[in-house]
Formats: sequence, C-alpha cells, structure tokens
Amino acid sequence: MTTSKVKFLDFSPAHTQLKAKIMTAIEKVYDSNWYILGKGVEAFEENYARYCGSGHCIGVANGLDAIHLSLKCLGIGPGDEVIVPSNTYIATVLAVTYVGATPVFVEPDERTYNIDAKKIESALSSKTRAIIPVHLYGQTCDMEGIGAICKKHGIKMVEDNAQSQGALFNGLKAGSFGDFAATSFYPGKNLGALGDAGAVTTNSPELAQKLRVLRNYGSEKKYFNEVIGFNSRLDEMQASILSVKLEFLDQWNVERRKIASRYTEKLKDLKELTLPFTDPRAEHVFHQYIIRTSRRDELQKYLANEGVETLIHYPIPPHLQAAYSSLGYKEGSFPIAERLAKEVLSLPIYIGISDEAIDRVASVIRNFYGNKN
Ligand SMILES: *Cc1c(COP(=O)(O)O)cnc(C)c1O
Repeated sequence: MTTSKVKFLDFSPAHTQLKAKIMTAIEKVYDSNWYILGKGVEAFEENYARYCGSGHCIGVANGLDAIHLSLKCLGIGPGDEVIVPSNTYIATVLAVTYVGATPVFVEPDERTYNIDAKKIESALSSKTRAIIPVHLYGQTCDMEGIGAICKKHGIKMVEDNAQSQGALFNGLKAGSFGDFAATSFYPGKNLGALGDAGAVTTNSPELAQKLRVLRNYGSEKKYFNEVIGFNSRLDEMQASILSVKLEFLDQWNVERRKIASRYTEKLKDLKELTLPFTDPRAEHVFHQYIIRTSRRDELQKYLANEGVETLIHYPIPPHLQAAYSSLGYKEGSFPIAERLAKEVLSLPIYIGISDEAIDRVASVIRNFYGNKN
C-alpha cells in the first residue's frame, strides 16, 4: 500500500449521513423563535436521562461545568478533599479547584488505566468528601469497588462520564451510578454536539432541582435569585442536534468496538505492545483505542512520517502541570500515571473509518517493529 493518509479523527462520514436530519432539527429551532431553555433542551434531557437509566438530566454548557456544578451542589468547598485519578484530563481536577477543595490523586490500575479502587482507602482522610471516578477512554471504572468505599465512608460520588457515554458496568450504564454523573458533549466525544455542550444526570429529584437552579443564575423564578448561581445552560440548537445523534449512539458504540477488535486482531502478536484490556464486568465503548509501548515517541514519529495521525492522552499528568505546581508534587509522585504519560498512544478511531485505514495503521506499526505483513 502507498502513503494514503489516515486522520486521527474525521467527522465527515457520520455527519454526511446525518446532515438532512440535523439540518431539519436546526431549522426547527431557528423557526421556533426560542433559543435558550425551551422544548429542545427539555426533550434532550428526557431522552438522555432515559438512555442512561438515570432519573434526571440537566443540560449545562460543557463538561467542565457539569463536574464543577455537581461538586458545588453537593456543598463541597474549601477545606474539603476530593479523590481524583492521577491519570485523567485536567478538567476533572480543575472542577475540584473551582469549588476551593483540594484534589487528592490516586494511581490507576495498570491494565484498565482507570483509578485503582484498591488504592483509594489509603488516600482517604477525615476531610475526604467525594470521589470523582473518571471512566477513561470508553471504559467504566470499578463501580462495585468504588461504590462500596463511598457507602462505607459516607463519601459522595461524581462520575466523570465525558468519555464513556453508553458504556456498561455489570449491565448498568455509565452515568447512573453516582450522586451525580457529569458528561461532556464536546464534538469529539462518543456523543458530540456541534459546539460546546454538557450534562449532569442524577437519581435524586432534590439534587436535580438544585442543579437546575444553579445552572441558571441561581434562579428558579425569573428575577428571583435564591442562591449565587452561574450561567451554564445547554442551548436549544445543541440540544436538538444531540437528540438526533443520541439515536445513533448505540450503533456507533458497536462500530467503535468493531474497529477496536480489528486493531487488536492485527496487532495482538506484537510482544512490544500492550493492547487495551477490558474488565470482564465492563462493556467498553472505545472512545480511544490506546496502545502502550516503551518506544512511544519513536513509533509516533514513524507513523506520522507514513501519514498516520495519532495523539497522546495525555502527555503530562495533572500533578506535573505548571498550573498545579503549588500542590508541591514532583516527578516520581505518581509513577504509574507518569509512566503512562510516556508510553500511551491513541490510534485513529472514528465513525466511518474504513477497514483499509485500520489495516494501514496496523501494517505501519508492524513495519516499525520489523515484522512483515
Ligand atoms: C472532555 C472531558 C472533560 C471536559 O469536557 P468539556 O466539555 O471540554 O468541558 C472532562 N473530563 C474528561 C475526562 C474529558 O475527556
């Protein structure tokens, strides 16, 4: 095969197929003369709550706000500690900082890359108020283990479900376990808007009502402000687009699993690579297909020279980011997260990627390791 390029992410196959439906949805909002907190948002909130098997959904402006408002609603603030994974996107940690609480990092399980439930208890203190399990790369965390710890110690759980919409643990959907579950509909997520968008799900009607007020200036009745709120609303356009896309999420997740199986089939005999591991209790939705190798930077460069785009999720763990230097961590504080940052590589995965493209990525990787195809 010659040097056909493989993009890391390409929206066009999915969006071409959905164009007529999405344009109709957008036109309906356009003609409605109502653009904020209307029927489109209400409908999507109902659809997404039902999809997750959760009692309530509240649309918000983005995923970071979804985590931030959840913590705020639970009354978490200065003096409190919140357990977060050492291997995550910075947003999880920023939300803790926003409410004035202190993030306490716990290392990931080496196989799933998600927070290691066995390591949480030794990180608890009398100040621990909440845990944010992040369902990273498309796989749920150990909801059994973490749920038991929360119950035993009276700690709140806020799921960060930005990367695992539709994933299951013991047959239950991600987004249905926590006191709150926060999600992001950033365009590249498994369920993505055409702009910024996010949501919170919860089974508690009281918490749902509190969050509804908080996202809209702290106001239940227009011009009456009970609490100091925020402006963090999902808009009618994005909500209507998301309702169209939600109908395709399950079939898209099936497709993501097929892409993942094809990569695994083509790469599984390469001893130098660690391929994704799925907890038998979980159903993975492969937001990312992560491989691991000690020669990561070299491999990424080789792939780039062959026209294959890859990304690293994530090159610097939050505790080593300049923004968090005040926490006083250094290289060596969380060695597993640090090693992952040096070894993980995300291969191209998106709806509509061709078998030829997958096979080409695999064959370039095989060539790198000196294997004939
Ligand atoms: C994308 C993402 C977020 C933040 O979502 P935004 O909508 O970009 O604010 C939070 N946590 C994780 C794990 C994410 O991947």
